[in-house]
Amino acid sequence: MIEIQNLTKSYGQIKAVDDISFKVEKGEILGFLGPNGAGKSTTMNIITGFISSTAGTVKVDGYDIMENPREVKKRIGYLPEQPPLYMDMTVLEYLNFVYELKLVDKKQRRTQISDIMELTKIAHVKDRLIKNLSKGYKQRVGLAQSLVGSPDVLILDEPTVGLDPKQIIEIRKLIKALGKEHTIILSSHILPEVSAVCEKVIIINKGKIAAIDTPENLSKGFDSASKLSATIAGPTNSVQSHIQEIYGVKYVDVISEKEKDLASYVIEADKSLDIRRPLFFAMAKAGYPIIELKPMDMTLEDIFLQITTEEKEAE
Ligand code: ADP
Ligand code: MG
Repeated sequence: MIEIQNLTKSYGQIKAVDDISFKVEKGEILGFLGPNGAGKSTTMNIITGFISSTAGTVKVDGYDIMENPREVKKRIGYLPEQPPLYMDMTVLEYLNFVYELKLVDKKQRRTQISDIMELTKIAHVKDRLIKNLSKGYKQRVGLAQSLVGSPDVLILDEPTVGLDPKQIIEIRKLIKALGKEHTIILSSHILPEVSAVCEKVIIINKGKIAAIDTPENLSKGFDSASKLSATIAGPTNSVQSHIQEIYGVKYVDVISEKEKDLASYVIEADKSLDIRRPLFFAMAKAGYPIIELKPMDMTLEDIFLQITTEEKEAE
């Protein structure tokens, strides 16, 4: 449905987007994940035809954004980082206005707009001025705006930014529901969001794709048994040096000291080794009881940090 090839965008010396390629299949929800400044908005702005690329191609449903911008724009609903709302219009006035802008068939206007308001749950505020709505409702109006004209593709730039936790859950639910009938690209700099909503994740860092996979596979690619959290009774220095001596241990760090001679440690070992047994024997021999021991699962957060830090080190 969406095909991006060797896309690059330069601002002077800076490459905001640096030679990225990916595909989004019809009906897929793709998460675009990356720290601030990674190039998410720039990529989305290019896909939607808001700005031009320096090099590379964008195709939506087979149409090239440069050759057939109208055909592409017809198929895309866009919610930019800053929703383009007119504060002095009522919700209904605004949606009618967008409807005219998008040159959609006039006959369906009433039904389509009322369907969209139903879906985004804003029907009961349709006569309110947008400026008087809460941030969460403004965001829903922004989403509603992107749905006008029934586009196949939705591009949503950080759709939950600035919302409170309850509003975030509601908007996510809504996006998931929209995913049944639309192809969606959603950007976020927060990981739980992406794993909650998306089937595929692209991690982008400094304009480059650092990883692309399902949230599950991204987690699998990194061995979770290699990192342990342990609470051990004993003088921290001595405990630490005993652990350090165990074969395969890469590092050990104190996470927190609970009381005198009782601390929690994080222990990282080579991926192929399970050091729980050697750890048990080493601590028993030294006379330091293990109070608690558990594997630390790599969260998407860790993976994200690892991937983006590796990139940094490689520079
Ligand atoms: P993200 O949305 O992932 O936070 P952006 O796509 O907004 O990142 O920005 C990517 C990089 O491009 C940043 O370093 C930003 O400063 C730079 N950038 C974005 N727009 C412009 C512009 N109009 N002029 C110069 N630099 C820009
Ligand atoms: Mg952005």
